[in-house]
Amino acid sequence: MSEPVLEARDVAKHFPVGRRGVVRAVEDATLALLPGRIVALVGESGSGKTTLARVLARFYPPTSGEVLLHGRAGTGRRGYHSDVQLIFQDPFGSLNPLHRVRYNLERALRLHHRTRDRRELERQVLDLLERVSLSPAGDFVDKFPHELSGGQRQRVVIARALAVRPKVLLGDEPISMLDVSIRLDMLNLLARLRDEDGLALLYITHDIASARYLCDDIVVMYAGRMIEGGPKEDVIARPRHPYTKLLIESSPDPGRGEDDRAALFDGADELGEPPSLVNPPAGCRFHPRCPFAMPECEQSPPPRTDLGGGHWAHCWLHQKGRAGDLASTTHAAAPALRAAGPADAPGAADDCGDGKEEGP
Ligand code: SF4
Repeated sequence: MSEPVLEARDVAKHFPVGRRGVVRAVEDATLALLPGRIVALVGESGSGKTTLARVLARFYPPTSGEVLLHGRAGTGRRGYHSDVQLIFQDPFGSLNPLHRVRYNLERALRLHHRTRDRRELERQVLDLLERVSLSPAGDFVDKFPHELSGGQRQRVVIARALAVRPKVLLGDEPISMLDVSIRLDMLNLLARLRDEDGLALLYITHDIASARYLCDDIVVMYAGRMIEGGPKEDVIARPRHPYTKLLIESSPDPGRGEDDRAALFDGADELGEPPSLVNPPAGCRFHPRCPFAMPECEQSPPPRTDLGGGHWAHCWLHQKGRAGDLASTTHAAAPALRAAGPADAPGAADDCGDGKEEGP
């Protein structure tokens, strides 16, 4: 396997709030982005995914831990942003509204590649627009951002990111503000850039369906911590953390009947809100919502369990020989399970042996 282009190692990011408070937005985040692969970072709002993206983009320094580009920590700012580009959710806010598309792209080319020759600049600007399927490029190059649709604006933002010839794209909910009708086109564009340029891509989303469509690997965050990750097919087919299972079972599935879907959403609502990151729950941060919580879940953060094939999870079920509980339970039943108490959950007495699961 190739070497990571960009890595986070044990990254934490805390923000001071009030006189003595601290928002623990990200804790112990470890992530590697490889050339030609797309990792989806999935979680609900407030899970820390945008903060982590901003640390990776060097918009925020980490509170602890390190971010390595090509294995090194000390790359200068301009060199760093020549290799790592962040695409924001709101394409309108990302472009200078007073300037035409041409200016927005030329500026990136001038800054990062010192291209000065007018004809060469023109050629590169038109090429960039064609690459993101704004074609014929001549129809778009002299437009102002407000004269473009949301999808066209986001394509210009991606073209500007490509102007610096990056190795890594960090997409922070890049399709969530676009019309549903063009989201698929945008995902296909990102996949094409991964294939053509061998880009390493981080795709941040709250929507597991788009992650399922686009990515190679999935990492799930909950309340500032990474809780599960691995190859997409395995994580989706066999989630090994109760929260991942809830996310997957709550996402639209054409194969699921209406009654089942309603029951799943009811269950999700009853599981409650994510916790405060100022005073997060001790131990596993999911324990107040988890139908499988055990005494140790309230005391210590669960260690990482490697499950084989690159799949891993942070959940005490795997250390305590209770992984079978999760596989045999749907979240439609979760509120009832929680009311009954963890000891009454199906399979609570099952013992899977040494707590280590076989690989997929
Ligand atoms: Fe967290 Fe425990 Fe539930 Fe696993 S079983 S998700 S460690 S509360």
